[in-house]
Amino acid sequence: IDEDVADEMGHFLSSFKGLEDRYRLINRIGEGTFSTVYKAEDLQYDQYQNNWDITNKNNSPWRQHTRKPSKSRREPRYVAIKKIYVTSSPMRIFNELDLLRDLREHDAVCPLITALRHQDQVIAILPYFQHQDFREYFREMTIADMRPYFQCLFTSLAAVHKRGIIHRDIKPTNFLYNPAQNYGVLVDFGLAERQGTDYIACNCELSPSARQWRLEMSAIHQGHFDHLPANSYPKSDRDTRPSRRANRAGTRGFRAPEVLYKCTAQTTSIDIWSAGVILLTLLARRFPFFHSADDIEALLELTHIFGKKRMAQAAVMHGTIMETNIPSYSENGHSLEKIVMWSTDRSRKDKDGNRQRMPADEEEAVEFLGRCLELDPFKRITAEQALRHPFITRAGM
Ligand code: ADP
Ligand code: MG
Repeated sequence: IDEDVADEMGHFLSSFKGLEDRYRLINRIGEGTFSTVYKAEDLQYDQYQNNWDITNKNNSPWRQHTRKPSKSRREPRYVAIKKIYVTSSPMRIFNELDLLRDLREHDAVCPLITALRHQDQVIAILPYFQHQDFREYFREMTIADMRPYFQCLFTSLAAVHKRGIIHRDIKPTNFLYNPAQNYGVLVDFGLAERQGTDYIACNCELSPSARQWRLEMSAIHQGHFDHLPANSYPKSDRDTRPSRRANRAGTRGFRAPEVLYKCTAQTTSIDIWSAGVILLTLLARRFPFFHSADDIEALLELTHIFGKKRMAQAAVMHGTIMETNIPSYSENGHSLEKIVMWSTDRSRKDKDGNRQRMPADEEEAVEFLGRCLELDPFKRITAEQALRHPFITRAGM
């Protein structure tokens, strides 16, 4: 490992009281917006294992007080030490650790072993999970490889969502996957929240007719339009209510349309959208698939695919209006199958004027993709439903 990293690790180890006695830092494995993560060896690993054997032999007085830890619950030898930047707010740090503790019993979520604090530095200790960098395998993944990937990811999401938690930052670097074992775990609850935390009623929760009425009233009131939404078509992105605030936390390119439209009643289904973006990345063999620098561009990228009409409808749903005057955007957009064929250079006609057909297993994946990338969060597939979808149930067959 390079000298700078070694220096940094040395400094960290000596500055955090008591850490040196317990862990040996091996390497820096992650550097994000909110933390630096190191791989480390637990120096008490052997001792811990042996101690258990000694103290539990025969008539040891300890015997009655110690219970053999189940195999999966034993302290691992290798850990990931997540050093949370001291600039993170205490509330944010508490939130992450609290949610991780809530989810500790679930195999598909990387469990928190413990968290330690020294002065203003907080670290989280997690079992080290052997995985491969997404960029190393995403181009080679076949449909058969994708099934177990999403089976794992959706199993994690189902567990998280069942507890009413929105992860908010589903993307390849937060889902550690080991292709050799077809197994992955979800990490990074730094942006996660309990659904409803910052809830304010949103237009999308109303019945379609009530929604329509509300919108017409507000449009007339603001002098924007007198005919909506049939003739409304995008001119520039504009929010009818400029004061509206909503949680936008997440990573660009992975944000659901309702996040971009500042829906104030976001649900766990924003994670499903992000998982859909991962699938689109794999099927299109392009990473990152979306390149937008900001939310406006992100909406335009989505408009390229879904068309002006559906994007305007989605805006209306959350009580906002999207207008664009870019003529190159089609009214009705394109099918996801077409997008995937284009992206993978299979859309040209052959010499007889015939187009290539997509193989059946890939069609099934695209159908599933469509269920994840559903603009209306109420129609989007849930994690539970996804686990019953043929694309997932055929994993390992
Ligand atoms: P951040 O909030 O900074 O994004 P993450 O929790 O996502 O922090 O961790 C950053 C990176 O560190 C991950 O993308 C992954 O590469 C690595 N990492 C995190 N936790 C583990 C773990 N338990 N085992 C192995 N690597 C991990
Ligand atoms: Mg992360």
